[in-house]
Amino acid sequence: MDQAPPARTPFHVMTKPIGPICNLDCKYCYYLEKEALYPPRHVFRMSDEVLDSYVSQYIAAQPGNEIEFAWQGGEPTLMGVDFFKRVVELQQHYCPDGKQVNNSLQTNGTLIDDEWCEFLRENDVLVGVSVDGPRELHDRYRVDKGGKPSFDDVMRGVALLKEHGVRYNTLTVLHRYTAQSPLEVYRFLRDEVESDFLQFIPIVERVGVGEGLLWLAPPPDPDADAEETGPPVTPWSVRSRDFGEFYTTIFDEWVRNDVGKVFVQTFEVHLGIWMGLPASLCVFGETCGNAMAMEHNGDLYSCDHYVYPEYHLGNITDTPMEELAALPAQKKFGDDKRDALPKYCRECDVKFACNGECPKHRFIDTPDGEPGLNYLCAGYKRYFKHIDPYFKALANLLKSGRPAEDIMQMVAERDAQMAQQDRWATAGRNDDCPCGSGRKFKRCCWDKRATRAGGPRAGTPEHSPS
Ligand code: SF4
Ligand code: SF4
Repeated sequence: MDQAPPARTPFHVMTKPIGPICNLDCKYCYYLEKEALYPPRHVFRMSDEVLDSYVSQYIAAQPGNEIEFAWQGGEPTLMGVDFFKRVVELQQHYCPDGKQVNNSLQTNGTLIDDEWCEFLRENDVLVGVSVDGPRELHDRYRVDKGGKPSFDDVMRGVALLKEHGVRYNTLTVLHRYTAQSPLEVYRFLRDEVESDFLQFIPIVERVGVGEGLLWLAPPPDPDADAEETGPPVTPWSVRSRDFGEFYTTIFDEWVRNDVGKVFVQTFEVHLGIWMGLPASLCVFGETCGNAMAMEHNGDLYSCDHYVYPEYHLGNITDTPMEELAALPAQKKFGDDKRDALPKYCRECDVKFACNGECPKHRFIDTPDGEPGLNYLCAGYKRYFKHIDPYFKALANLLKSGRPAEDIMQMVAERDAQMAQQDRWATAGRNDDCPCGSGRKFKRCCWDKRATRAGGPRAGTPEHSPS
């Protein structure tokens, strides 16, 4: 009897049709330096041959019925609309009956015009707009080649996307300053940009470290935190404690107002984990290695964060992409995420949700001196401790068939109970009685104050809102 062929592991590729070329010059961008991987005067533009080969191979390699193409850069809109019309043409040509192709495009939004919007809407492309919050925070680092701020151009692009009914969401960099303004950033994205799916990525960069590449070291962080150990980070790198505070603060806003309306990628991933599902984002998975990056000429790399010569898997025009994805080197790359985890992480009570996060950020020492701890560890611990009771309650709600939105009512009831307890605890003898009788506290319930103000503080991280 013939044996069934082994099931193929799905893999994902982030594709850069124009390489690192961009019309902006964001100060924290880790990808602009990739120009140095190619010779001087190299033309960064995906040819029709590479595109054809990529589209056909990628479709053929995907075992599922939905095939996700992700276009990134650099700034992919610099390729022009006609390039993407050709993308769609090739996808239609190679996509077998019964399967569906979806496209997403990550853009800085500044070059979006009516023609782009018509194309994006007609082809149901999901657009990710890179925006770092209100003007001042966004323009801190997101400037063009002449240093001119980009906020107005981005918001003009967003307005056009809205006007044309294009599906879009947002990607926001958590840098030194956005991370210090959690509510300002969250409310801006929710209320002004009207994004209902928010992705945040932390910027963490060591000074002068580029694996396999020499690059000019940016100035060291002048406010380096005494308690932060390990190599110094760039001045725009997020601080670990701010990172944790950012997520806990926006979580509190979200869990009270926006569940079921606004989706924060990190919360969605962790809610899934709290429900017993595998991590849907590589950084929180036990291993990684299934999310690669492809340059304009077909060069395939282990990951978008590891586009360095030593992580170059090969070129898809020489070796089939499926073979490159299955190389032992790539398997090792993904397994190393688990195998290099320090003991401190292996014994951590939130390892199931964190898994040491991305190896790219693992460059500080554990308290007992073992190298390889994630720079963001303290922030993650704070965040996980904070969300735990809420996500336990939310997971129970969903498992019992109730809508996630019910958590907001439960939290509101707990908040009201806490506020009432606070009134009992803080009212003075001559204040109005917290019971609402209209009499002075001293002439009404003064003797009962200890029992009314006592008890566990519901709604705090230590106590579940369920
Ligand atoms: S190295 Fe980090 S970003 Fe890359 S695949 Fe692994 S976890 Fe994901
Ligand atoms: S929270 Fe810290 S110790 Fe725990 S798994 Fe994550 S990085 Fe490791």
